[in-house]
Amino acid sequence: MREVREDKELLLEAAREVAEALVEAGGNAFVFTGAGVSTESGIPDFRGPSGLWRRIPPEKFTIEYFHANPLEVWRLYSELYRSMSGAKPNEAHYAIARLEALGLIQGVVTQNIDGLHQAAGSRNVIELHGSGSRAVCLECGFTDSIERWLVKVAGGVLPRCPVCGGLMKPAAVFFGEELPREALRRAFDLAHAARVVIVVGSSLTVYPAALVPEEAARRGARLYIVNLGETSLDWMAEIVVRARAGSFLPLVVGEAERLLGRG
Ligand code: NAD
Repeated sequence: MREVREDKELLLEAAREVAEALVEAGGNAFVFTGAGVSTESGIPDFRGPSGLWRRIPPEKFTIEYFHANPLEVWRLYSELYRSMSGAKPNEAHYAIARLEALGLIQGVVTQNIDGLHQAAGSRNVIELHGSGSRAVCLECGFTDSIERWLVKVAGGVLPRCPVCGGLMKPAAVFFGEELPREALRRAFDLAHAARVVIVVGSSLTVYPAALVPEEAARRGARLYIVNLGETSLDWMAEIVVRARAGSFLPLVVGEAERLLGRG
């Protein structure tokens, strides 16, 4: 493992190596993201210095707590949603979308619920932890945009499914809930085929999501990590870049475009 910090020349050299690995892999690659890819868009991560867990206790987002106190959790969720909903994609999201458009990655597997990869133009986005902008019925699976349910919550009304009367819940995966099966299957398909995986902005401490890049690396994919803090897979990575994703990933795109003769 080689660690690279905020030194311009070293960062450029690392970006060149990542770009070369992507070109060599011929598209058999993917990016895996966490909350850190969106901090430059103004959305706090969970465990960083201004992380969400310093304001909202994580136990409130367990499925058990939700069943016992649905209206309270819906209210907390409204607060969280408001802090996310005005956010715009940043340079890191755009760079990841560009890598896909260049045919260098198959897509992005994300733990985020903020929809910013799609907003930046990424097409194949696998959301392991669901979507923050949708609501889902816990009984029949009916799903809908979250906005109108938040209006009800603001008026003190508990969201009930219009189809079966079941309890509606934000479609973000809560602690203690299973991950969406189809998303997991698609993520592991990518992991099994990949020759390169780039982790961006994740401490890799939330399971089973973190198994996706781990599985890829165990099967021989080259692992590159772009993360300000330590991650649990640093030891497996070829290069760990301790720089802001929004400053490093555009360098990778620039180098890749140069190698491909595009721009
Ligand atoms: P995490 O908070 O555990 O880790 C984020 C990592 O990103 C940290 O190690 C931090 O050092 C790094 N980081 C922060 N800003 C960065 C930047 N600009 N460039 C590079 N690295 C940066 O997040 P996680 O691993 O995604 O796990 C937390 C869980 O929280 C996930 O399950 C996710 O669903 C959820 N979450 C999502 C959002 C969102 O949708 N934007 C926000 C907060 C939490």
